Amino acid sequence: MRIANHDGRLVLTQEERFIDVEKASAGRFSSDTAAIYSTWTEFTEWAGSQSFAGAADLDPSKLGAPSPRPVQTFGIGTNYRRHVEEVGWPVPEVPLVFTKWPSSVTGPGAVVELSGPRVDWEVEVVVVIGRAARRVSAADAWSHVAGLTVGQDISDRDTQNRPETYPQFGLGKSHPGYSPIGPVLVTPDEFDDPDDIELGCLLNGQKVQKSSTSDLIFSVPQLIEYLSGILTLLPGDLIFTGTPSGVGTLMDPPRYLTSSDEITSWATRIGTMSHTFTAGPEVRG
Ligand code: ZN
Repeated sequence: MRIANHDGRLVLTQEERFIDVEKASAGRFSSDTAAIYSTWTEFTEWAGSQSFAGAADLDPSKLGAPSPRPVQTFGIGTNYRRHVEEVGWPVPEVPLVFTKWPSSVTGPGAVVELSGPRVDWEVEVVVVIGRAARRVSAADAWSHVAGLTVGQDISDRDTQNRPETYPQFGLGKSHPGYSPIGPVLVTPDEFDDPDDIELGCLLNGQKVQKSSTSDLIFSVPQLIEYLSGILTLLPGDLIFTGTPSGVGTLMDPPRYLTSSDEITSWATRIGTMSHTFTAGPEVRG
């Protein structure tokens, strides 16, 4: 099953067509995409019996974040081996977890304001929680996942590394618009193997990142086991699972985003989203 936030309303989608959930369910489920995750089990049972006969055409320019108001949004640092190598850090023994504050969440077609001269891209596969998770084992973890979407963990490397001795990952990755997700949410059963999803990022059409979630140091089930052993994961929460190698700050010379750039982020069976940028006052000077 695939859901989207289309023109501010929750829809089921298939092959560029959609059904409006509130209308098709005669009001049983709300049009508010954020609200659906608290009734995820009932919703998926209902959704499985819906027909796409008479469905309308999806307008990609109207898509918003498939989980627009998560209570919690987690980021995982250095979770791909080649990215750990390019950063020059040791392979982590436990997941490196930070917060991307939820006010940074935006949609798949947003224009993002740059907060400074050293803003970077990080394509990631993002988990959306469907059933609350507390002390969940890795073996049971996928049953708590609503689905997967594509994300960009946009990062202001100046904010992030200020002060250098105590990096502020959470702040550097939480400027408004720095957590775009989309274009749709795809349930785990739609993948041949939900632990092997290819993802990548293009900068102005040129490949800069490409990998697969099979290369994650901590897999999605391991991340859910670890996080839910410490706190409660709530319906609609996001986990940005980490970025592969190829970020701009580690290029030689470093390459950062400008208002004339476009980044395209994709993952197999989920789709593609593209973002452009405007220069905020910190960039215009
Ligand atoms: Zn990241």
